[in-house]
Amino acid sequence: MSSVTLRNVVKRFHKFTAVHKTNLEIPDGAFVTLLGPSGCGKTTNLRMIAGLLDPTEGEILIGGKRVNDVPIHKRNLGIVFQNYALFPHKTVAENVAFGLKYRDVPKSEIAGRVQKALDLVQLPHVGERYPKALSGGQQQRIALARAIVIEPDVLLLDEPLSALDANLREDMRVELKRIQDQIGVTTVFVTHDQSEALAMSDSIVVMSAGRVEQMGAPEEVYNNPASEFVANFLGASNMLPAACTATDAEGATLDVAPFGSVAVPAEKAQRLSGPGPAQLVLRAEKLAVLPEAEAPPGLLTAPARVETVDYQGQTVRYFLRLGDRQLQAINMIDERPFEQGAPVRIGFRPKDASALPAE
Ligand code: ADP
Ligand code: MG
Repeated sequence: MSSVTLRNVVKRFHKFTAVHKTNLEIPDGAFVTLLGPSGCGKTTNLRMIAGLLDPTEGEILIGGKRVNDVPIHKRNLGIVFQNYALFPHKTVAENVAFGLKYRDVPKSEIAGRVQKALDLVQLPHVGERYPKALSGGQQQRIALARAIVIEPDVLLLDEPLSALDANLREDMRVELKRIQDQIGVTTVFVTHDQSEALAMSDSIVVMSAGRVEQMGAPEEVYNNPASEFVANFLGASNMLPAACTATDAEGATLDVAPFGSVAVPAEKAQRLSGPGPAQLVLRAEKLAVLPEAEAPPGLLTAPARVETVDYQGQTVRYFLRLGDRQLQAINMIDERPFEQGAPVRIGFRPKDASALPAE
């Protein structure tokens, strides 16, 4: 196993910069996800770590050693891509054994290691079958078995679940995380799916347009986003214009019309350097929609009106009119959700908000 480091890495394709100067430290044994919209440079970063692309500038280190000049087959990596192409004319066992033969592992060891990998992906009895006899999810597990059988230092996974249908994808998430926990291999996982990233990662690297916007634990990027982009890429957030009136060890005080004075806890106000223009970030799940006459203690509230109601199974999403602004709230469905046009009261707890400087 090994850590992975990107040091001042830049990748340009002709004049186009796909990856701007990037520094990343992926600790040994961690499951780190590169998350961002299509085209933000996730695959480019992964291909540079793999050795399939040369960085234009900067250094890549695996296990603390510079690998810029080390070819892909000498980097000891397990790689699974979205189109996981198994060899159709080889059996499952032959597919899994491929990387071992290529690495001159003694014949006497191969069958045992292949079986161990098939056990790990919970498909112990399919070794003699051909890929086409397996479901998409099973084929994907075999691709994973083929990647881990070589006992890689680092596992690189590029949207490996995106070809699977929704239910299977959720099962495979759990499965993939279980396997990674069991073998403890450093894993760099690429996805554009925020729920996948939140569910699986020790740490998430949120990317936009070739830059790292934020790196942190799932709770950290979710609850304390570093930018408006992050706040909205990981679900919906409301950005309320605010004025920071004071900061101290306890946190920041923000004036937010029409709610009044909001005391944001220090760990969620680190990005404010002092009094000045600011924004209050309030996740849609943290904004409660209440009957007009209710104002529970501990909530900062304001009257609003329901503009749109969007049912989403267990939850309901409201678009709400608050003066000249539209806000979003995602609440659990209770027996009597509010109807379009209804006057309501909206409210939140100050500790659920975070703060950013004004854009
Ligand atoms: P992601 O995986 O996040 O969707 P990519 O890393 O594949 O994004 O691509 C990042 C950007 O670099 C995109 O704008 C893409 O079009 C561009 N790009 C990727 N590979 C090449 C290439 N070989 N030549 C030119 N442009 C490329
Ligand atoms: Mg990609």
